[in-house]
Amino acid sequence: MEVFERTADLRGYLAPVRAQGRRIGFVPTMGFLHAGHLALMRAARSDGADCVVASIFVNPLQFGPREDYRDYPRDLDKDKELCMQAGVDALFVPPVEEMYPRGFATHVEVTGITDVLCGRSRPGHFKGVATVVVKLFNIARPDCAYFGLKDAQQVAVIQRMTEDLNLPVEVKVHPTVREKDGLAVSSRNIYLSPQERQAAAVVYRTLERTAEAVKKGERHAERLKKLLEDGIRSEQLSRLDYAEVVSWPDLRLLAQIGPGRTLLAVAAYFGTARLIDNIIVDVGVE
Ligand code: AMP
Repeated sequence: MEVFERTADLRGYLAPVRAQGRRIGFVPTMGFLHAGHLALMRAARSDGADCVVASIFVNPLQFGPREDYRDYPRDLDKDKELCMQAGVDALFVPPVEEMYPRGFATHVEVTGITDVLCGRSRPGHFKGVATVVVKLFNIARPDCAYFGLKDAQQVAVIQRMTEDLNLPVEVKVHPTVREKDGLAVSSRNIYLSPQERQAAAVVYRTLERTAEAVKKGERHAERLKKLLEDGIRSEQLSRLDYAEVVSWPDLRLLAQIGPGRTLLAVAAYFGTARLIDNIIVDVGVE
């Protein structure tokens, strides 16, 4: 596996790959890699990428001033080992000044769908995400790029941006990888104390119960939202950030759900860790 810190070096490596008509699959991450990231890397390979490129970049632009940018977990040596095991060919680990040199002044903003959920709780977050992803797409120029559905709004934002800006990248979406008790695997789970870790299982349990209510016929968005809120609040160690029921993938607030896909989404704090998760339910024409 080759490791690059500089854009020019990664480009130099990828130019002959592209010239030979070999397909480039790309997995952008913030590192502290776990089973979710590795699943994306393996998906890139099994999907037919001839060259799998991953990036590790803790993007300061997508963190708010009171968020965990400085404390975000990092372990580059272990990450390199895991990338190698997952069959990554090239790993891009740019320093901050490589991505945002002095004078950097251009941002990408996706409007509308960023007004809800994490976009509302974390102002500027998706502007940071969209900006870094378009930069990484321009640097690696992949044929396909892989994103996890755990960050459902991020998927919606990247799909919207890719379409709106005619970016020549196929965006591929991978289901959420979970622990045995349903907790979505996340780099931020490291912040959880043993008690908080146990308590955090309430997130997926609540999502599943709410999805079950949809299966049984509940279509009223406010009632579903209440089920989500009450479920999370039933756990003493949780502090709810939001629970929402929106259309997927355009993230519109709804009175009644269906026909079509609906995103049940939750964000909650357990101690200092802010965890997010979601389920997409599909209601047919009734
Ligand atoms: P991050 O390093 O948290 O920015 O995540 C990098 C990529 O991995 C994003 O596309 C995430 O959606 C994806 N990802 C993170 N956690 C999971 C998970 N539990 N299952 C699937 N994909 C994930």
